[in-house]
Amino acid sequence: MKEKLYTIPIQDAFAKDCECPVCEIYRKLEENAINYTIGPGASYMEEDIRAQSDKEGFCQKHLKMLYEYNNKLGLAMMLKTNMDRTIKELEQVSKASLPQPNSMFKKKEILSHPITDYIEKSEKECFVCGYINQTFQSYLMTIFYLYEREEDFRKQFAEAKGFCINHYKVLFQQAPRYLNKKYLETFLTTLNQSFLNNYKRVRDDLEWFIRKNDYRYKEEPWKNGRDALPRALTKVGSIWNGEES
Ligand SMILES: [Zn+2]
Ligand SMILES: [Zn+2]
Repeated sequence: MKEKLYTIPIQDAFAKDCECPVCEIYRKLEENAINYTIGPGASYMEEDIRAQSDKEGFCQKHLKMLYEYNNKLGLAMMLKTNMDRTIKELEQVSKASLPQPNSMFKKKEILSHPITDYIEKSEKECFVCGYINQTFQSYLMTIFYLYEREEDFRKQFAEAKGFCINHYKVLFQQAPRYLNKKYLETFLTTLNQSFLNNYKRVRDDLEWFIRKNDYRYKEEPWKNGRDALPRALTKVGSIWNGEES
């Protein structure tokens, strides 16, 4: 069964003391994808892969991560040919006639023109995001696969410390596609409770962190407030702040 390939990383992520096990899974895939794109394997030197990264380009987040990876020459080469392609294609679409004065449009209408359409389309694409998403979806399916088949995993799922708000949405949206009647309701009820209870827990930790910054609370114990802010970043923005593993 194909899903079995993915079960161990899922169980590891759910066993980890973290604010969103799905973020853990995503982060590992992201690390992998950055490494694949610009690391020692030098996938960018292969013609077909390069053609794909030239076409898709990179999103803001991954451009930044690629820049922080220590291969400036590799990134420069990839960006150069990506820019070559953009120039060529923009020159093509700019042959279209120019837009008419704004008064021609209804006030709220947003201009649609081959130039802006082209830029908007390329803003939605990213080679690294695409590479991650191929595998990420298989991992999500494996969460449901394990949930239906393993009592231990259902327990692990219920006892995890909840999810970030984005992955809460993703799990909620996909559950009806992959879970059978027997488990769907339990899954969604558990997911709802787990998300809200743990979101509230981190909100409370954040509240205590704020209090602790008030001199009147100086002598009080930190409780779970000390690292409340990075944990809140995970819950609210899927931003990972844990230890490397
Ligand atoms: Zn998450
Ligand atoms: Zn991206």
